[in-house]
Amino acid sequence: MRFHRSAALAIALATTVAAAPSSSPTPAPSGLGVFDDEEAECSGLVFAGLVTNPMDIDANPLDDEVVKLRIRVLLQGNVDAGTAKRLLAPAMELYERHGLPLRISFGRMGGSPTGDVDANELIAATRAAVGGATPPGVDAVLTLTTKNLTSGALGSSVAGKVDCVGGYADPTRSFGVGEVHLDDLPDMENPNHIGFVNPAKTSIIFAHELFHLFGAHHHFANCAESNVASADAVLGICSLMINDIGLASFETSTANDRIARGHVANYRDRH
Ligand SMILES: [Zn+2]
Repeated sequence: MRFHRSAALAIALATTVAAAPSSSPTPAPSGLGVFDDEEAECSGLVFAGLVTNPMDIDANPLDDEVVKLRIRVLLQGNVDAGTAKRLLAPAMELYERHGLPLRISFGRMGGSPTGDVDANELIAATRAAVGGATPPGVDAVLTLTTKNLTSGALGSSVAGKVDCVGGYADPTRSFGVGEVHLDDLPDMENPNHIGFVNPAKTSIIFAHELFHLFGAHHHFANCAESNVASADAVLGICSLMINDIGLASFETSTANDRIARGHVANYRDRH
């Protein structure tokens, strides 16, 4: 769904390669998109036999260690590295707050700047662009595109996708894609912005998809731990991993926090 022709809140965040929903998506109420694929877990802690409840993960899996996450971002379309850095600033602040600061390097992905692109095909192209696996010393590779992402029955409502939840554990699966929304910039850089639409869609999409790669799931998001009345007027009322960009904030749930840090602690030696 494109922002210029419908309610701005309706962008869903999808996961998984296998787009095989068992039924048609339910029409969204009041323009709020709540669509997503079923999530496929490839090799994460949860549901992989290591833990069955994220709250069983050590409350401080990394013992307060600050772990730099090395992310390769491939840019497709009308966005340069300088603009991408500005668009991703809120996402970088989020990961910094959680002791997982991002070190992002930028590259290019070919393709026209506009039109539709299938999310699964773009994930495959991203993997192919780096030779089939994350390069040594790189934790994840994501392509950010100015094209409109589409995915199976979700159609244009999808705004991002990862190869699989927990993909960080496997260098051949630690890939994702997300949309770039250049119209974020005027609002997110205006300190007086007051509105009901999250002004940093690109960052929310990127932060959400990246958190999936570290094992975070939609169903461990909630609407009690988010920062509803933040001074910068990011009015997402739920935590980052809720499956609706209009509801997602730059706060994460305790459960997904433990999963992500536990994931990094468990699998960091694979990168
Ligand atoms: Zn998601």
